[in-house]
Amino acid sequence: MDQERTIILGGVECDYDPQTRIALVYCANCSERNEVEVWLADDGRPEYAGFVCEKCGFFNTPEG
Ligand SMILES: [Zn+2]
Repeated sequence: MDQERTIILGGVECDYDPQTRIALVYCANCSERNEVEVWLADDGRPEYAGFVCEKCGFFNTPEG
């Protein structure tokens, strides 16, 4: 049974739901939590294209 787990994005630990592929990632600009779709590579590394904060519009890059 899949459980919620955490992944590391940009050096920050984030909650991640493997079933929906949604991670809760903090915006680097305003610390708002955003729901971001994240794929895990075969080796378990998270892969995502960055996201635009829904609160402040800041573009968060994959590098953090
Ligand atoms: Zn923000």
